[in-house]
Amino acid sequence: MRRPIIIANWKMNGSREKNTSFLEHFLTAVNAETCDIVICPPLPYLSQIQQSIEITAINLGSQNVCQYPEGAYTGETSATMLADLGCQYCLIGHSERRLIFNESDKSIADKFLLLKKNNITPVLCVGETLQQRENNETEQVVLSQIDSVIHSVGINNFIDSVIAYEPVWSIGTGLTATPEQAQSVHLAIRNHLKTHNSQTASGTRIVYGGSVKPENAADLFSQPDIDGGLIGGASLKAESFAEICNVLS
Ligand code: PEP
Repeated sequence: MRRPIIIANWKMNGSREKNTSFLEHFLTAVNAETCDIVICPPLPYLSQIQQSIEITAINLGSQNVCQYPEGAYTGETSATMLADLGCQYCLIGHSERRLIFNESDKSIADKFLLLKKNNITPVLCVGETLQQRENNETEQVVLSQIDSVIHSVGINNFIDSVIAYEPVWSIGTGLTATPEQAQSVHLAIRNHLKTHNSQTASGTRIVYGGSVKPENAADLFSQPDIDGGLIGGASLKAESFAEICNVLS
């Protein structure tokens, strides 16, 4: 049985005051017993959030990590530092990082390995653009994004990671993949993982991201191969995010 997981990606939003108010409301509204919940705030707020969730069941995640272990990389944050701050999860390969910051498959694989070495669970984001979907390239794109990491780090390192399927055309656009569209890609991912290792295939949590809201979460999360969600916009409001998490309770 895979334990569901719901991850909040706050992107570049928040302030100390807003974060405090969010947590006050969220912690009273959420039932964190039946799924893993992760909050990924912007880097400067990791310590603030860590201190507020320390005695709760909520986990801390980062939105990014440097692909190098340490040294002269101005402005970057290493996996060791994230572990030191109490991060248990870290997003890598988010489409905003691939497209706006030109992240390559190679740098994503390097980040993946550094996270594993520091006992941080990588959440590998993959997904196709609208054009790729219209060209019927969805599976090919998504599976090759996953394979580039597996080939670089090895299947044994892939165990216990999380995959987030996030169609680029649905992120922040209000356009959600239908439960059937999402399930079909999740199943293709799981079947593909089987060709590498059947235990990894059945144990890997594959979450859906892309305009998930309280109104569509239940239908998406009830699909057999959707093990939770990666939530952007709707994770900024404590009540909405709690409602999405509570769908699984
Ligand atoms: C995201 O950025 O990972 C995301 C899923 O955003 P949204 O929920 O706003 O589409």
